Amino acid sequence: MTSLDRFAASELAALEARDLRRSLAETAREAEGYAVRNGRRLLSFSCNDYLNLSQHPAVKAAAADAVHRHGAGAGASRLVTGNHPLYAALEARLARLKGTEAACVFGSGYLANIAIVETLVGKGDLVLADRLAHACLYAGARIAGASLLRFRHNDPGHAEALLARNRAGFRHVLIVTDRVFSMDGDLAPLDDLMALAGRFDAWLLADDAHGLGVVGGGAKVPLQMGTLSKAVGSYGGYLCASRPVIDLIHSRARPLIFSTGLPPAAVAAAAAALDVIEADPSLAARPLLRAREFTRALGLPEAVSPIVPLILGEAGAALAASRLLETEGFLVAAIRPPTVPPGTARLRFAFTAAHSAADVARLAEAVRRRILGRS
Ligand SMILES: *Cc1c(COP(=O)(O)O)cnc(C)c1O
Repeated sequence: MTSLDRFAASELAALEARDLRRSLAETAREAEGYAVRNGRRLLSFSCNDYLNLSQHPAVKAAAADAVHRHGAGAGASRLVTGNHPLYAALEARLARLKGTEAACVFGSGYLANIAIVETLVGKGDLVLADRLAHACLYAGARIAGASLLRFRHNDPGHAEALLARNRAGFRHVLIVTDRVFSMDGDLAPLDDLMALAGRFDAWLLADDAHGLGVVGGGAKVPLQMGTLSKAVGSYGGYLCASRPVIDLIHSRARPLIFSTGLPPAAVAAAAAALDVIEADPSLAARPLLRAREFTRALGLPEAVSPIVPLILGEAGAALAASRLLETEGFLVAAIRPPTVPPGTARLRFAFTAAHSAADVARLAEAVRRRILGRS
């Protein structure tokens, strides 16, 4: 065995011993919210395709048409020749939707956050992050070389105390938070964070990856990023912001400059999906309705987004619960550290427009019997 393979094997063994090893399971997704895994057809509560738009006929047709007209790939970075004709309309549309002057689309939401954070801050600046903010916001802060402080989850009082103590020591301060927290489903106190940003001359970046299309509202935040890969059913990330900020991104953001543009099909599919979302508000409302049926059935705190966590503690407990639900015909992924803090491994339920009220009732019944041990 080479030292490289010995290293990999010993790391894996250590992960295995703590129930933290991960592996890829081949999963074929079907049109109506089902997934096929190990030859079994399971009703999935683990897709972020909240509106099932990845399967929508108009969205698929737009993607196919884009391939026929513009080819399979973009061919280069957008700054070179990859800025194909489908980008401008999508960006204008995102800016209009979010009420900003401009928008920029990136290769993914993960890349968008790295691009935004490293363009706006660096050494001598501070990133102030909610403790449960998404991993890619933290990655951006690290890559940017900025100092990093974390405030307690959804605790603007703690953020305020950290600003009062530290603001004077830094040139610029960027406050970063999820708008809808990806593993907890709760909402950030954006109005409070906006007020703090105003008082301390800080900038606020809100990550709306799980909000766009399915959770209404949201304050007028100057830096609104999100993804085209979840409720929009396609792939890519975006930032909606002022014209000068977007122009600076075009000149400085390394994930934009040094990476190939999105394939035309992804851009066309996103635009078509936004058409569907705008045309049918009742579709956008359905995931949250379903989540509320579930929390009501089990007496859990009322859902405020399509994401409902059931915290079980240790990684092994979450894995066992996920396997139990699989035997009942449901796909509900176990979420373990480091995705969530140690001791808070959980089942994470994501409700979508593909689920019926009857599906949710069956799931709640299975959770009540098999996981919560109630009759
Ligand atoms: C999924 C997610 C991202 C990353 O978006 P991708 O388009 O999947 O790369 C960023 N932020 C949050 C909060 C997310 O949940």
